[in-house]
Amino acid sequence: MPAQGDQCIFCQLMEQPEQLNIIAETDNFYVWHEYPEPRARGQANVVPKEHKESIMELSPAEYSEAMTLVREVMEKAKDGIDAEGLTVVIPEGQMGGQMLDHMYIQIFPRFEDDENAGTPASAVFPQKEMSEQEIKDTADTMASIDANFQTETIEPHPDSQKFKENSGNSASINTGPEEETENGDQEQETEEASDFEGKSYSWE
Ligand SMILES: [Zn+2]
Repeated sequence: MPAQGDQCIFCQLMEQPEQLNIIAETDNFYVWHEYPEPRARGQANVVPKEHKESIMELSPAEYSEAMTLVREVMEKAKDGIDAEGLTVVIPEGQMGGQMLDHMYIQIFPRFEDDENAGTPASAVFPQKEMSEQEIKDTADTMASIDANFQTETIEPHPDSQKFKENSGNSASINTGPEEETENGDQEQETEEASDFEGKSYSWE
């Protein structure tokens, strides 16, 4: 997959955000209604403003921001267009069904009168023949991987504006939430916690 931020469709679209049907926006993400061929009424794409090929390029703070946005868009779909259910899709990589080199999260509102109402997204995966031992071994192998997402330093994608600014000695470095990884994890965790506390959700 070619990685060219300047020619990336999403990067190009976001140069003129007034032409997107924006549903929500944060410092680092846009959410817009899929067009011109939505697969659901209210289908929303959560997209980082910076060029990032993979959701695994998001910093912990950005990841939290994206997931909080997903939660907010769910509420907007339920309260705004009476969605009766929702399916969230996070494709990762070409084999994972990711269709562009710029990561996205899709939110599909679901409705009772949909042709496929109630069909789980997992229906696209035919059942896999695996022995009990194979399942156990596979689980053990995955469990043995030491994932340290919360403490990792995530570098900006080379095609992203942030990377160019950081490496180009620009005076106007955008200090987004992910910059704080350099200041230590303790501080970042505190920031994240307070971010969440600052928002008011109604779970009723
Ligand atoms: Zn892009």
